[in-house]
Amino acid sequence: MEFIETRGNDGVKTAKVPFSKAILEPSASFGGLYVPQELPKIDDQFIQSHLYSPYKELAFDFLNLCDIDIDPDTLTVALNRYDLYDDPLNPVPLEQIEDDCFVSELYHGPTRAFKDMALQPFGYILGSLAKERDERYIIMAATSGDTGPATLETFKNQENVKVVCLYPDGGTSDVQRLQMVTEDGANLHVFGVKGDFDDTQNALKSLLSSKDFNATLEAKNVKLSAANSVNFGRIIFQIIYHIYSYIALIRDKKIEAGKPVYLVVPSGNFGNALGAYYAKKMGIPIKKILITSNQNNVLTDLIQNGEYDLNSRELVKTISPAMDILKSSNVERVLFDKFGATRTKELMEHLVAHGFYRLSSSELDALREDFDASFSTDEECESVMGIYATKGYIMDPHTATCIKAYEQLREEKLKTIIYSTAEWTKFSPVVAKVLGGQAKEDIEALSYVSKKASHPISTKIQELFSKPIIHKEIISKDDIQARIIALL
Ligand SMILES: *Cc1c(COP(=O)(O)O)cnc(C)c1O
Repeated sequence: MEFIETRGNDGVKTAKVPFSKAILEPSASFGGLYVPQELPKIDDQFIQSHLYSPYKELAFDFLNLCDIDIDPDTLTVALNRYDLYDDPLNPVPLEQIEDDCFVSELYHGPTRAFKDMALQPFGYILGSLAKERDERYIIMAATSGDTGPATLETFKNQENVKVVCLYPDGGTSDVQRLQMVTEDGANLHVFGVKGDFDDTQNALKSLLSSKDFNATLEAKNVKLSAANSVNFGRIIFQIIYHIYSYIALIRDKKIEAGKPVYLVVPSGNFGNALGAYYAKKMGIPIKKILITSNQNNVLTDLIQNGEYDLNSRELVKTISPAMDILKSSNVERVLFDKFGATRTKELMEHLVAHGFYRLSSSELDALREDFDASFSTDEECESVMGIYATKGYIMDPHTATCIKAYEQLREEKLKTIIYSTAEWTKFSPVVAKVLGGQAKEDIEALSYVSKKASHPISTKIQELFSKPIIHKEIISKDDIQARIIALL
């Protein structure tokens, strides 16, 4: 698999790069992204021969088809990270919640959010490339929730990689904060920042562009890398679970091989949905991918009307914060795939210059061949969570956005897989609320829900409350730069 650029080549960067380069230096010409030049086909034989394969085996054979420049031993060890899941043979269980609706639970990993699915193996691969090349990397993350814990967890104790993680003090849930401040590893640095998430993110941005910081990096021979969700090293692992979940339906005799399904994907930066799109292109019979959002419904507008417009919007805080996103970066890869580099560059430049872009009606038709979309308000999500809780299935608010799409967007009553991206324990106060409780602190909410719904709290979450706090420093945003340069 070789990688080309979504906005074309500027004549300075290499026009075609191998996987390793696309993940170590993820920024392509003109601010674009790397995309695979060709995708392998998943044929019927692949499906039949993996009906009973453990996840890791299917993943290994899939990566083999992709033919990336990572040696097989490294891939094997990277995939062993799925041994950290509740059931290593079946890390992504499929739960039936309706006759024709199944939940693919992507959250059974170490930090109880779906970010682990990709970050776990990706972290190992990045670390081993750094070691092999004798290069040192620093990963900078500003987080309001799920990405911070998953990034720390995957890179802890990786030689040659340091992680600096900034979170807004008071701006995350208790569970998310504890997941970061109790994470132990000599290469991890976690700071609370006085201010909100925007302050934290802006402070990080100005640090990344500061002369002092970059001069220090250069002098110390440290490279800056990004483990963010546009890195193809994450995307490649997000294709696999879509294939696995389809195969699981066949294995469990819920559908016959070859029959089409709908997928419903709660989306923010569109990495999960892009993985589904690539799985479809590779041959998995997916009728359509239904994209769901919260009130930050920029993706709904794009897919329903062909208009991506940031001018008329402000970010709204919702009960599904991991989807509180307006700039959904991975959409660019779909635009490239459908309309080519010239048009993608034009659309993305229009977005920067004017705050919006508009697809032509034939372009919109092309997009809608593969996608449809809807969004749910917080009230709609809470109502869905309540309905399913009484039927015995507890879902988190991100997953809850899927139900409306499942009920309203399907043109045919085909079997449907919805993706659950977080365990309810990460958003327990809202779960407690829909179950009639009132809890401000996560610890009260967790115990309320677990009693009321007779639902155990996963060990990983329970342990957090008795682990020692390792990272205690809260800094003001003006001190971030000096503090991080001192670390180097
Ligand atoms: C990151 C995240 C999402 C959004 O996934 P994208 O791949 O960015 O679209 C949805 N739900 C949860 C819980 C997440 O952490």
